[in-house]
Amino acid sequence: CGVFGVIGVTDAANFVALGLHALQHRGQEAGGIVSYDPGSGFNSARRFGYVRDNFTKQSLMETLPGALAIGHVRYSTAGSKGATQIRDVQPFFGEFSMGGAAIAHNGNITNADALRRELIERGSIFQSSSDSECIIHLMARSLQRKVPERIMDALRRVEGAFSVVSMTRTKLIGVRDPLGVRPLVIGRIGDDGWVLSSETCALDIIGAEYLRDVEPGEMVVIEHGELKSLRPFMPAKPRFCIFEHVYFSRPDSIIGGRSVYETRRQIGVELAREAPVEADLVCPVPDSGTPAAIGFAHESGIPYGMGIIRNQYMGRTFIEPTEQIRNMGVRLKLNVNRALIRGKRVILVDDSVVRGTTSRKIKEMILDAGAAEVHFRIASPPTAWPCFYGVDTPQREKLLAATMSEDEMRDHLAVDSLKFISLDGLYRAVGEATGRDASCPQYCDACFSGDYPVAPSDMIAKGFEL
Ligand code: SF4
Ligand code: MG
Repeated sequence: CGVFGVIGVTDAANFVALGLHALQHRGQEAGGIVSYDPGSGFNSARRFGYVRDNFTKQSLMETLPGALAIGHVRYSTAGSKGATQIRDVQPFFGEFSMGGAAIAHNGNITNADALRRELIERGSIFQSSSDSECIIHLMARSLQRKVPERIMDALRRVEGAFSVVSMTRTKLIGVRDPLGVRPLVIGRIGDDGWVLSSETCALDIIGAEYLRDVEPGEMVVIEHGELKSLRPFMPAKPRFCIFEHVYFSRPDSIIGGRSVYETRRQIGVELAREAPVEADLVCPVPDSGTPAAIGFAHESGIPYGMGIIRNQYMGRTFIEPTEQIRNMGVRLKLNVNRALIRGKRVILVDDSVVRGTTSRKIKEMILDAGAAEVHFRIASPPTAWPCFYGVDTPQREKLLAATMSEDEMRDHLAVDSLKFISLDGLYRAVGEATGRDASCPQYCDACFSGDYPVAPSDMIAKGFEL
């Protein structure tokens, strides 16, 4: 998901709409905005579909006045999978003794089932099936008076990944979990405006200046033009999601001081060194494989070409929640550039193989178009474990790499060769010169390594085996 918030500008909701539009790649199912205006109080709008189809209408934006607003774009990783209800769409809002507050959450709470059970037993009435709603109920039960303290109380009980943006009548608040699994950045706009955003690309769109990241375990409270930094949690060694660099974030974003594009290009360079192959053409599987393909072509000296063309009117295949749509999705979204491919030995570079659906379809399309050979090079290690921290990987059994070796996957996909970047190669590409520190990894890489930095307690209770 994507979260965004602004304080200290006229018509903040318009800025939030633009920010969410730039974060649309993080969630395409639905979006919502809450704003506060002293005249009309809190207002909210939640809609299915793209930001640009909803939050551009003047009639809607007029209902969201004020100098303070937050927003969320959703893709379902927890809750009503496949059939999001409008009540699952964030931001969530609650009225407390000291006034109301709204929250928007990116990530996934790994003890949400247990918390929900406990809260329901104690009388909470849940409105949605979303894991994030727990935060609002925990805030309501806190004995603290002020909202920032209530948020701290709530989040200290929450396990898993959370980047949260929240607002009261006067404050914009941002928090990252102690490991900092999901991103959250701070920007400045105008003379005394402040912005919180999942990624820097959404600061660019509104002309805000990137100040710094909210640090893992940090809470920032912005009020009257000033930012206060708090440390509500026990300190921990950060474990940022390495897959944000590989796929999830936009390549024009800067994360932890690193250009996502440059990291992806460098993954391609590492891949070309680790798994060279003789061929005539390097093609990205667009768009997610493009920077890595550029790096691969550069390092190998093999020409780069657009052998697959993407229909720009389709969203991200992966983020369509049902299997059937995903299956159709590949053809609706990608087509082969036959004139370029015919007779050539082609290296296809993609970011990841999850179920293998995309790779198999693409291989068929490329061979139909008359390619002489097809070699897959993948910009991440084999995805062998599900993510429980906010990226919607399927159950373990459906992950190709959970049951097959690299050679078996090659045979299953019936391609001439298939190679994944090594975990160390990936760490080098994100700037860790000596690779992965096995005793204390610098990133979360659980979907590749099975090394979960936070025990997924709900899943373990359901029988998931580490
Ligand atoms: Fe990111 Fe993978 Fe960790 Fe999930 S399991 S947070 S996708 S690195
Ligand atoms: Mg892709």
